[in-house]
Amino acid sequence: MEMVHHVSSLRSTTGVGHDINQPILELKEVSVRFHNAPALNDVSFQLHKGERVAVIGPNGAGKSTLFNVISGVLSPTLGNVNIYGHRPGEHICIAYVPQRSHVDWKFPVNVADVVMMGRARKLGLFRWPRRQDWDYVNDSLELVGMAHLAKRQIGELSGGQQQRVFIARALAQEAELMLMDEPLTGLDVKSQEEIFSILEKLRQRAVTIMVATHDLNLAAERFDRLMLLNGHILGFGKAKEVFTADLLNQAYSGQLRLIETANGTMVLSDTCCGGGEPHG
Ligand code: ADP
Ligand code: MG
Repeated sequence: MEMVHHVSSLRSTTGVGHDINQPILELKEVSVRFHNAPALNDVSFQLHKGERVAVIGPNGAGKSTLFNVISGVLSPTLGNVNIYGHRPGEHICIAYVPQRSHVDWKFPVNVADVVMMGRARKLGLFRWPRRQDWDYVNDSLELVGMAHLAKRQIGELSGGQQQRVFIARALAQEAELMLMDEPLTGLDVKSQEEIFSILEKLRQRAVTIMVATHDLNLAAERFDRLMLLNGHILGFGKAKEVFTADLLNQAYSGQLRLIETANGTMVLSDTCCGGGEPHG
C-alpha cells in the first residue's frame, strides 16, 4: 500500500549518469520468486527511448511484479535490470504511477503537495522547494489539466483526476520512463480518453511509457508494442504478431472471447477481470 505522502527513496539528489549508448531499459533473464513460487520467469527484453508498450496478461501474470523490478522496489531473484546501463535503484528518472487501489486516499494532502513529492529526490533532504520546483509542479498540473484543482484534497477527486495527478507527479520528477499500473481500470470512457490525450502530449518529450492494462483492444490501438505476459513473455511486438488465437489462448487459457476475421484475431473481452476495482 503506497501512502500518498510516501517518498520511496531520498538517497540521491542527482541520480547517476546515463550511458546513452545503452537502451533506456533492458532486462536480462529476470526471474522473480515469492517463497519459491515463480511470479516471473526468464524475462528478457529492451525498450527504445520514447516507445509506448502495453503489458497485457491475466490476473497474476506478473505485470505488477515486472513494474516493481523495473522501478527497483523489488530485486529480481535471478538476472538483472538496467536503465541506461545502471541498476534501477540508482535512478531518479523512473516514475511509478501506482494502481489506484494501492493508494491510501484518506491521507490529508492536496493535489499540489502530491505533485511536489515528484520533486522530492531532486530536492534531497536539506533543501526546501524553490520557485523553480513550484514551476515544475504548476507546469505539470497545467499539462494534465488539473491546475485549477491544485488546492483540492486528493481524496476528493474522481478516479480519472487522481490518475492525472499521479501523472503530473511523474512529470514533476522529470521522469523519462513512466510505469503505469492499470491506469484505466475503473475509469469511464471519457476519463480514459483524457489519459490518452495526456500520453499523446508526452510523445513530444519522448517519455518512454509502459502501461499494464486489461483492455486488449485499447492496447492494440494505442500502443507501439504489446507485451503478452503470463509468468513469462509469450509475445512482444505489434498487435498483429501478438494477437493470435494461439498466443492469446496460451495466456488466458480460454478465458477470452475471440473471433477470427479476415484481418486476424479480434478480441471481444478479457473476461477474467471485468468490472471496476475494489476501492479504499
Ligand atoms: P498481476 O499484476 O499481473 O496481476 P502480480 O505481479 O501482482 O500479477 O502477481 C504475480 C504473482 O506473484 C501472483 O501469483 C501473485 O500472487 C504473486 N505475488 C505478487 N506479489 C507478491 C508478494 N509480495 N508476495 C508473494 N507473492 C506475490
Ligand atoms: Mg497487478
